[in-house]
Amino acid sequence: MNNISVIGSGTMGNGIAHIFAQHGYQVALIDISQDALQRALATIGKNLDRQLAKEKITEDDKTTTLNNISTYTDISEGVKNADLVVEAATENFEIKKQIFETMDAHAPDQAILSTNTSSISITKIAAVTKRPEKVIGMHFMNPVPVMKLVEVIRGYATTDETTRLVMETSKKLQKVPVEVNDYPGFVANRILMPMINEAIYSLFEGVAGVEEIDTVMKLGMAHPMGPLQLADFIGLDVCLSILHVLHDGFGNPKYAPCPLLVNMVTAGFKGVKTGEGFYKYTPGSKDLVVSPQFK
Ligand code: NAD
Repeated sequence: MNNISVIGSGTMGNGIAHIFAQHGYQVALIDISQDALQRALATIGKNLDRQLAKEKITEDDKTTTLNNISTYTDISEGVKNADLVVEAATENFEIKKQIFETMDAHAPDQAILSTNTSSISITKIAAVTKRPEKVIGMHFMNPVPVMKLVEVIRGYATTDETTRLVMETSKKLQKVPVEVNDYPGFVANRILMPMINEAIYSLFEGVAGVEEIDTVMKLGMAHPMGPLQLADFIGLDVCLSILHVLHDGFGNPKYAPCPLLVNMVTAGFKGVKTGEGFYKYTPGSKDLVVSPQFK
């Protein structure tokens, strides 16, 4: 495996392109937006500078990594030599359906088509292609260059050989792949999202305040970040949409999103990306300040 195509150059796509390029793969980074591609290259450059400053890589490694990445705005062009595609476009089934149909038509027959989706069924995505046995989930964690885990999700028709190749490739990136089956939320979000939802319910029902809830989980359970801060970091809209997937997929009321989360997303308080969620974020400041809504 040598040629990797990454579709979507946002938060996750730029990190995925970065680590493949750094490990010697030729990367075709594809996005519909030329601006997003430029931003991704700038972010990769900045992250490589940080690794350089920490003496984790050399100036030569930085140059080679950047030279290993080429950019495309046309999927059919960008996937035509791919051995493996990692799709990391917007979390929306209709968008992913169109992308998988296009790449199925233009990628080589032997290419593996993977998706970084957080919650959409791999089996459902695979069903829009003529090669469901070669479709698999490759769920990287944010920030990709730092986080070790890759949740490798087998769809209903994914073969052992496809799974083996993706597990092996993940190890070559110095990640730790974990194989799981395709049910709502997979493992990571099936466990994480109910915990975050329960933390929001604890706030909603007045059990404790924002800082108190996060402190209990940080100091009591040795979590590096409290669940409310983590929800802000992930994006409250993303958390809400994953809870909907769990609720719809299992039909179990225990996954029903807390009404406070629904209200916050509706009002546009989506966490770090909008400047306010459970905490208020000021550009350039690392202080953790509870949102005035919860004081
Ligand atoms: P993002 O919004 O930062 O980036 C998405 C990119 O996809 C954008 O640059 C957009 O222009 C591009 N795009 C949209 N439609 C496209 C198309 N038809 N063809 C090519 N490019 C297209 O999103 P993100 O946070 O990087 O998430 C990407 C995927 O990764 C989603 O499936 C998400 O669920 C998953 N994921 C996200 C996180 C996270 O913490 N953000 C973690 C794990 C997995």
